[in-house]
Amino acid sequence: MGTFRKKNEIRDRTYREIDGDYLNKNQYMIIATSLCVTHLLFELWYLWLGCTPMVIINIFSILCYIVSILIILQDKRNIITIWIMVLEVFLHVIFASVFLGTACGYQQWLFGTLASVFLPFYNPELSKRQKRHIGFFSLVVIATYMVLTALGNGGLLPTRYNVSPGLSRLMFYCNVFLTFGAIMLYTQIYNLRVGEKQKELQKAADHDYLTGIFNRQRIQTILDGEVLRQQGTSQTNLSVAIVDIDFFKKINDTSGHITGDEALKELTKIFWKNSAEGMLYGRWGGEEFLLIAPEHFSYNQFVDLLERIRLQVEDNSFTSNGKDVKFTVSIGVATYEKGMTVEELVNLADDRLYHAKENGRNRTVYA
Ligand code: GH3
Ligand code: MG
Ligand code: MG
Repeated sequence: MGTFRKKNEIRDRTYREIDGDYLNKNQYMIIATSLCVTHLLFELWYLWLGCTPMVIINIFSILCYIVSILIILQDKRNIITIWIMVLEVFLHVIFASVFLGTACGYQQWLFGTLASVFLPFYNPELSKRQKRHIGFFSLVVIATYMVLTALGNGGLLPTRYNVSPGLSRLMFYCNVFLTFGAIMLYTQIYNLRVGEKQKELQKAADHDYLTGIFNRQRIQTILDGEVLRQQGTSQTNLSVAIVDIDFFKKINDTSGHITGDEALKELTKIFWKNSAEGMLYGRWGGEEFLLIAPEHFSYNQFVDLLERIRLQVEDNSFTSNGKDVKFTVSIGVATYEKGMTVEELVNLADDRLYHAKENGRNRTVYA
């Protein structure tokens, strides 16, 4: 039991880390490139100051960003680049504070570091291990900020190079500006990504995985809304149909499940071709689909449309596993009448579907 759990935890962690990249390629690229450009500007500033140690350290910083960009271009484990960038900023801050003094304000960058490591802390895709790393590193960053500030205030971190008070004030404001800019850029990119993920999740929650059409929950919500709308008007106009594949079990049994799946997709293609006028549809369950008539359609127009669909299914054939496969559907139709509940409407369509099956299948029953 113990090892079983452990194995599953490892497996879970691996999956999380595979898709644990919480930004997309372009977003990582924007961050890495903008920091790379910032450090190229720093290189000019250090050269101008004649601060050899920082000139050398900054070359390592630039190399960090070049490596990050190369990793991102390879499209593998982008999340590593966040750690490279975060550690680079952290070390650069310490060295710059030691060589140029805290008056230049490099320690402000630690706010940016903390924002970038801590923002994704509640991302459910992060493993417990990653969260532990983030938590520990955040504490180190806070402690470092306090130590640098204390040393600076105690006069223990003066400039070791000839940086005038005016220049260090200018650099202080430059660093404040760059840090705020970096935090805004990073949080904006992160929010965009969360928004994208939310859209992806909503899409997955609303759609059937196999056929890509609305799933039962979504089509049910739409139908609930339509019925509510009918209850508020004096003239009702809402019709629904349940379409069920005939002898579907036989397709599965004789040609296999994959062919069965293909038949389901084939049927949704036919629905799609007939949906131009605004018919809504979703997978109600197994091989059953719920169709909602276009808004401006009368009951008779809807029945005509369903008959066209039924005949198109009858004429259609597709190849699967080298075999031609054909199937038919039975359809039960019902129209909304005042006072009905959603269940009553669907049950009426279901009863008629049952009659269609009883009377030989491949037919539409509407009254
Ligand atoms: P009838 O004409 O009376 O509707 O008969 P049927 O065989 O179509 O109906 P039945 O309810 O006996 O069988 C439905 C089958 O649909 C059983 C189930 O295995 C299969 N099924 C349900 N969902 C899926 C799916 O997603 N893919 C595949 N391939 N088969 C499915
Ligand atoms: Mg069936
Ligand atoms: Mg069925």
